[in-house]
Amino acid sequence: MTPLPHRTRIVVLILAAMTLVAMPLVARADYPAFEATLTEPGGVIDLSAPHHLAVSSDEIKAWVERAATALTHFYGRYPVKHVSITVLPGGSDVNGAVEYDGRRIEIHVSGDTTHADLVADWMLTHEMFHLSQPELDDDYTWMSEGMADYLEPVARVRIRQITPERFWRDLVEGMPQGLPKPGDRGLDHTHTWGRTYWGGSLYWLIADIHVRQKTDNKKSVRDAARAVLDAGGDGSQDWNIDRLLDVYDSGVGVTVFKDLHNEMGGKPVMVDLDELWKSLGVIFDGQNITFNDAAPLANIRRGIIAPEK
Ligand SMILES: [Zn+2]
Repeated sequence: MTPLPHRTRIVVLILAAMTLVAMPLVARADYPAFEATLTEPGGVIDLSAPHHLAVSSDEIKAWVERAATALTHFYGRYPVKHVSITVLPGGSDVNGAVEYDGRRIEIHVSGDTTHADLVADWMLTHEMFHLSQPELDDDYTWMSEGMADYLEPVARVRIRQITPERFWRDLVEGMPQGLPKPGDRGLDHTHTWGRTYWGGSLYWLIADIHVRQKTDNKKSVRDAARAVLDAGGDGSQDWNIDRLLDVYDSGVGVTVFKDLHNEMGGKPVMVDLDELWKSLGVIFDGQNITFNDAAPLANIRRGIIAPEK
């Protein structure tokens, strides 16, 4: 090994000394965090979080359990056998969450986050959904984000963590951001925020409607998503898009995911959202959501938000 130049060595020594001094201070401020092991059907969650939050460790645990419950009801089990969830301090409210390799989630909770903020949070559920789909090539980030964005509220409305009115309102208000703008080249080639998150979510909503139309409302995106997990396709795996689409379609017994990708992946597809909400019987007057049970797809709308049995 070549000796380090003198000046570099001094810098290294200073850095080493600073680290030795600083580490225990950081550790005392935020760690040892409280640690807890939560058991869900089919999975174990190792949780650690700092002490210096406005919410108690019991409130943090209840928040994680609430998010996990949505996944467990949706899939019939927790999507992975083991995950570590690390709560980090900082930011505002609940923010800055990342899922890694189907094994780990990091999520920030600020020091002034309240109990109400935790109850209103959707982000942890969203990250947990990332545990339930293989990693894809970068062109298909919209597929991963669309899955988590659409299935998170579907799972939560079906156990009434959110109301049907809230579920539809969020879609009606948010979905226009997912429509193609001038210059769009389809979901696979347009990596803007709107097309990735809301465009992906729109793909999933349309897939859900088509699956239900083709199966007399008996199958849904849930059957597709369960099939991928049953095939071992959790977040620790790397799959190509064709395999994923094949397994989604095999889970519902009809070709929807593949066809829809052929349609929306390579070129911009404009969706008439006003017509879509009208056909589902979702009416938003700018303030309140109401429902029209005489609408042609009213039964599909009811199927999407039907309580889990
Ligand atoms: Zn995400």
